[in-house]
Amino acid sequence: MTIKGVCGRQSIKRPGLWFIFNRDKMLVSTRGEAVSVPFASNPAAFNLKPYWEVYVGLFNDSPCYSALVNEGAEIPPKMQFQGLRGLFGRLNDAVFGIAGRALQLVKWDYAHQYCSRCGRPAGGRNEDGAQICLHCGYLSYPRISPAVIVAVLKEDRILLAHNNRFPKKRYSVIAGYVEMGETLEGCVRREIREEVGIEVKNIRYFGSQSWAFTSSLMVAFTADYAGGEISVDTAEIEDAGWFAADSLPDIPDRVSIARKLIDWFVQRQRQ
Ligand SMILES: [Zn+2]
Repeated sequence: MTIKGVCGRQSIKRPGLWFIFNRDKMLVSTRGEAVSVPFASNPAAFNLKPYWEVYVGLFNDSPCYSALVNEGAEIPPKMQFQGLRGLFGRLNDAVFGIAGRALQLVKWDYAHQYCSRCGRPAGGRNEDGAQICLHCGYLSYPRISPAVIVAVLKEDRILLAHNNRFPKKRYSVIAGYVEMGETLEGCVRREIREEVGIEVKNIRYFGSQSWAFTSSLMVAFTADYAGGEISVDTAEIEDAGWFAADSLPDIPDRVSIARKLIDWFVQRQRQ
């Protein structure tokens, strides 16, 4: 199951799946506990008037569209706006993936109505879905920010830290955005050094995940402790420590690759 087609502000011609967002909450049809993405020719079918719409692509021959509505928008009968994150495991994985793409694409498109070089309305699209300015030709691709996330192991323990943006008492593995000119491995070493003051070795690729909420591509690694004592950078990290598999603190939910890394560590300790 793949998404096909060039995204953008194409005219909307035939009925399809509508991924409609009110901030990070998405409109779903509800039937008891079951949720699904509404199918219609137009959001007017639900009495909604989006202020922005984009075409996302074709999924199993159904067009997919994404739209933004204002916070005060009236909620249609038998529908709800639900937090996208909470829909993980309730929508099928492919549809959840498209919802993530739809959210990122519509937010990016709305925020890039004007060319960032010449300031005039940008207007065009190339065959890759990038925005092309019809005045100066400046090309702007939908923005994805790469970030690394890493499980550092020291004997039978994993490094977890509490970031001041996390819910209270939540701990997770270290993550950070890649800087220009930096390799992924270089970013792993720098982030860990900056945030907790230790050195790592044996950096190995683990997997990756599109993280729609921040338009990030999370690239996950594992690494081994190589030296130094934990000393937290208090601007961001409030506490960090080495945790055994049987005494983990509160950790992220299973939607995130952070949790997959921690689950991998727990599994490994059991073997
Ligand atoms: Zn321009």
